Amino acid sequence: MPAAPSPAHGAASTDARRPAGDPVDTTTDQAARSSAEKAREKAWKIDLREIGRRAGSMREWDKTLPALAGWGVEMIGVPEGAPVHLRLRLESVMEGVLVSGQVELPVTGQCARCLDPLEDTLTFDVQELYAYSGSTTEATSEEDEVRRIDGESLDLAPLVRDTVVLTLPLSPTCTPDCAGLCVDCGERLDDLPADHSHEVIDPRWAGLAARLADPDTTDSADRPQPGSASRTNPEEN
Ligand SMILES: [Zn+2]
Ligand SMILES: [Zn+2]
Repeated sequence: MPAAPSPAHGAASTDARRPAGDPVDTTTDQAARSSAEKAREKAWKIDLREIGRRAGSMREWDKTLPALAGWGVEMIGVPEGAPVHLRLRLESVMEGVLVSGQVELPVTGQCARCLDPLEDTLTFDVQELYAYSGSTTEATSEEDEVRRIDGESLDLAPLVRDTVVLTLPLSPTCTPDCAGLCVDCGERLDDLPADHSHEVIDPRWAGLAARLADPDTTDSADRPQPGSASRTNPEEN
């Protein structure tokens, strides 16, 4: 059996829901950029000493952190560096740390119907157990099934990124009932009068259309018969 042909243009077939990977940076200030990125990524890692390892200890955590790159889908996403507001409870439990609370962040994109730019705020709840290495939870779950505590810190970024990517619509709209664009003139239908239309006539029928539009040749159902009285009531015999 021959191997499946690989698509000619691989980039076009990427899954829109997959979070964007490491951006390909071709700028010369790559080093400066990546150090800024590293600082941002570090901000999302909570030091476990902030929470306390004793089961039962709990911390309320209210912080605003900068969004990392690639948090979005094709037509909508979180601008890199945008403020992400986290109101979380971090609870130390036997198996690890339970993270729960609310995340609020700005999203920008483009209406899938009329292509107008759109801005919105996305709010969602999270509840996630980060397992300690060596815990029963870690031993009895698959690698990708549960989030792990990596050394002495807990990385909130993948949790927020994954939730954003799964929550954002693949076809965002500026309003729930956006009518999109007129196929003939490309204007937004919502900006046009309700009776907006274009009279598009197939050139082969142009002659016929012209004759129909001429009042002298238009058939009239109640055209008076020649010679007869024009207003005779047919029911009067
Ligand atoms: Zn729209
Ligand atoms: Zn139009």
